[in-house]
Amino acid sequence: MIVGLSNSIHIAGGGPAGLTAAIQLKKAGFDPVIFEKECKVGAGRHGDYEGLDNWIFSRKVPAFFKQSGFNFNDVTTYPISRFFVHTLFGKPITIQNNHPFFYLVKRGSGINDLDYQLYRQCKEIGVRFELGKKGPETSHIIATGSRKAAAYIRGINFKTKLKNQVHLLLGSQFAPKGYAYLIIINGKGTLATAFKKRIKCSINFLEDTREYFNSIGISVPNEITFGSRGSFSLPFGKMHQPYKIGEAGGFQDYLFGFGIRMSMMSGQAAALSIIGKKNDSQKIVKELNQKRRLSFVNRIMYEQLSDKRMAGLAVKLSENSNPLSVLAAAYAWNFKNILRWINLGYRYEVRPT
Ligand SMILES: Cc1cc2nc3c(=O)[nH]c(=O)nc-3n(C[C@H](O)[C@H](O)[C@H](O)COP(=O)(O)OP(=O)(O)OC[C@H]3O[C@@H](n4cnc5c(N)ncnc54)[C@H](O)[C@@H]3O)c2cc1C
Repeated sequence: MIVGLSNSIHIAGGGPAGLTAAIQLKKAGFDPVIFEKECKVGAGRHGDYEGLDNWIFSRKVPAFFKQSGFNFNDVTTYPISRFFVHTLFGKPITIQNNHPFFYLVKRGSGINDLDYQLYRQCKEIGVRFELGKKGPETSHIIATGSRKAAAYIRGINFKTKLKNQVHLLLGSQFAPKGYAYLIIINGKGTLATAFKKRIKCSINFLEDTREYFNSIGISVPNEITFGSRGSFSLPFGKMHQPYKIGEAGGFQDYLFGFGIRMSMMSGQAAALSIIGKKNDSQKIVKELNQKRRLSFVNRIMYEQLSDKRMAGLAVKLSENSNPLSVLAAAYAWNFKNILRWINLGYRYEVRPT
């Protein structure tokens, strides 16, 4: 245990990062208290779908949840082993794999939503919550989510009778330096476009994306829209008090914005450090930092792609018998990728958290 801390640990923020830190601390005999500014955990989200990726880290999602302190079987997820990629060139492409590329989860405070389900598991083992209250300035752990925007996301949540399907739409017309996606699961759809900061006219990208899908027969009504932002940064230092975890600490994949797993891992790292298992904590931080470095490199390379080259790569991926392994290779800390980091890593802005 850290000198100066009693058994009571104050955590500001009840997202995946804070909840993971709390469940780990509680299981180790501490008394974590989560301060969540909203009246319910997950209330700040829109009930939209997000994906738990199965390629950035070697541990697959179910094993990952167990290691994070949660029961994966109690979480409502939708494994996705097939999706369609649309580009500005040629017909849509199918990309499929034997194992899921990702598990979709719904974010929010409803009973089928990830945030609620992690909250419930924390409550079950006695984690204390102060809902509707901001974390005190003296909080030991800061897990308050994104601060500085590096990317913007605009989307629509809607109801539909269409069958389950997942689409990725690439091209500067729809999501410059980013990507647009359409997810339909059990009558509920999310259409969104994610693009880099400094690119204006956001509302048109979403409308163009909606029109594209309407034009190919996938009707997306103009329903409730949402907007959000992502923040990434490279503070590669050690975990120390106050621990900044999750997006508050810049723990997010820079390429496509996957942040749930990184947030949960950083929560685990903070908890392990407080518990006194410093080496285990540092091991996690080291892995997170390697993945973050490579995600920076992957983004630099992604931004250099023309629409045509991007379309060509999508075709190549669809022709590969194991596309999941191709994605995983882009995040392997090996000689080739370390060289890329050495050559390109300096190019990204470092955002102090
Ligand atoms: C539209 C969108 C799509 C995304 N898609 C994906 C995806 O497909 N896959 C993926 O892995 N990631 C995705 N991400 C990123 C992912 O959602 C985040 O990385 C992740 O939620 C970060 O978890 P967190 O716990 O750090 O922060 P959050 O989930 O943002 O939780 C922070 C919590 O802190 C609370 N809070 C804020 N300030 C205070 C305060 N002062 N005191 C107390 N409480 C406070 C907030 O209300 C919130 O509940 C997406 C993000 C967005 C916006």
